[in-house]
Amino acid sequence: MNDTRAPAMPSGGGTTSVAEAASGEPRPRGFAHVESWIFDLDNTLYPAGSPLWPQIDQRITAFVAGLFGIDGMSARALQKYYYQRYGTTLRGLMIEHDLDPAIFLDFAHDIDRSTLAADEALAIAIAALPGRRFVLTSGSHGHAMKTTAHLKIDHLFDGVFDIAAGDFIPKPDERTYLRFLGQFSIEPAKAAMFEDIPRNLEVPHRLGMTTVLVAPRAEHETREAWEGEGGSARFIDHRTDDLAGFLTQIK
Ligand SMILES: [Mg+2]
Repeated sequence: MNDTRAPAMPSGGGTTSVAEAASGEPRPRGFAHVESWIFDLDNTLYPAGSPLWPQIDQRITAFVAGLFGIDGMSARALQKYYYQRYGTTLRGLMIEHDLDPAIFLDFAHDIDRSTLAADEALAIAIAALPGRRFVLTSGSHGHAMKTTAHLKIDHLFDGVFDIAAGDFIPKPDERTYLRFLGQFSIEPAKAAMFEDIPRNLEVPHRLGMTTVLVAPRAEHETREAWEGEGGSARFIDHRTDDLAGFLTQIK
């Protein structure tokens, strides 16, 4: 019985087969060539277990309830319907109800960040990255600045690209990535993208970026199950539940 594994390991198994080569990317992309480091904000630059995203989520529900004069359960259902159909609840409200995005964003991001401590390990790891660093978020610029300030990493970025800069078209729409890359003259083949939502890494990988999924082992505790689809996909080069630790190991 103990011998059964031996014949299952063909000699030369470590080489790339023709089939692998023909199918695209047999090996995960590395970081030696990377000049631009791109980070999602929520649940990526701070841990998914932090009490930030649940607050935003609840305030969006409250906003929808107040806007339509409906109860919390109905508002929740409508919020998630917009989110699934349009990528963000905000975009659904803008398209279907001509909502002023500034009113929504100010309300949704008016949260308590006091429990978010400075992340010294992350600051050191990001500061050591060679090249430029960016935040690419579906939240507002103000939310990104306040949140990174609490983490004490706000001084480490060369630019923040928010949902308004992307004309309120959220990831994973390709237009938003292209607009972001163009604004900062980033060459995607020399960039790496860090994200907690798998589907937001598909376009970056297709454009040539090295992709890293930042997610806890017990996934999808605070996010939707459908968002996690594709978590084992080929467009994800690396995955980690410890962003600072991962960055520190990059050679
Ligand atoms: Mg995120």
